[in-house]
Amino acid sequence: MAPEQATKVSGDGYLAGSLMHEIAHNLGPAYARQNGRQVEINEAIGPAYAGLEEAKADTVGMYGMKWLVDHDAMPKERLEEDYASYVGGLFRTLRFGTAEAHGRAEMMEFNYLVENGALSHAAGRYRIDYARMPGAIATLAKELLQMEATGDRARTEAWFQKYNAMSAEFEECARYSGRYPGGHPAEFFVSGEAPMKQLCSFFLAAIAAAQSPAHQAARHDRGGRLGVSTTRSPRATTSAAPAPIAPDGSSTTAS
Ligand SMILES: [Zn+2]
Repeated sequence: MAPEQATKVSGDGYLAGSLMHEIAHNLGPAYARQNGRQVEINEAIGPAYAGLEEAKADTVGMYGMKWLVDHDAMPKERLEEDYASYVGGLFRTLRFGTAEAHGRAEMMEFNYLVENGALSHAAGRYRIDYARMPGAIATLAKELLQMEATGDRARTEAWFQKYNAMSAEFEECARYSGRYPGGHPAEFFVSGEAPMKQLCSFFLAAIAAAQSPAHQAARHDRGGRLGVSTTRSPRATTSAAPAPIAPDGSSTTAS
């Protein structure tokens, strides 16, 4: 990555992206709809499903991150750090190859971001276009959610086929960053213990809300809108963290 962007990659940013990824696994369509019938998404999609679901979690998670910032639930100043950490994470995962679902997903995401100008390559480095990142993430999330909602196997397979290839530029960069074979250098993880704790309590509350029975019911609503539950679970209610986020962006205190 461009050096001044690489310095923004942080443990907090990586943690935030990982937590949003896990939350996002629980968001989106609960089943596919085909010819008026409900079908299991994984059965409809077949072998490509694992990669599709991991890519959905990444992109819906990053979409959610921007949404939280836009709704003043996360500080705006963190967003570049979060995007840089997400891209740093793509490099990290892809050094382990594209054979399993996370690698397949992230190769596709990377190539899509390059195609849409959110990432560009020059002089042996990749650079993030922060202004283009939200739009590219949003259109990719929409595409992947539609694949799941329709259970469209041919569309999914064609999509991953299209964005599957590792470019020569990328390979060169991945080799260069391979000097940290076990992951990121140690100093990567030491910054900001207090913000990290705040972030954890916020996300734990959001996860608890997402896992509440009320949310399970909400996911099956016809509206199928994205978002963390509007109703807090008992665990989340006892937390001092900010209130969970409603799907429509309305105020979120429990009813
Ligand atoms: Zn995952």
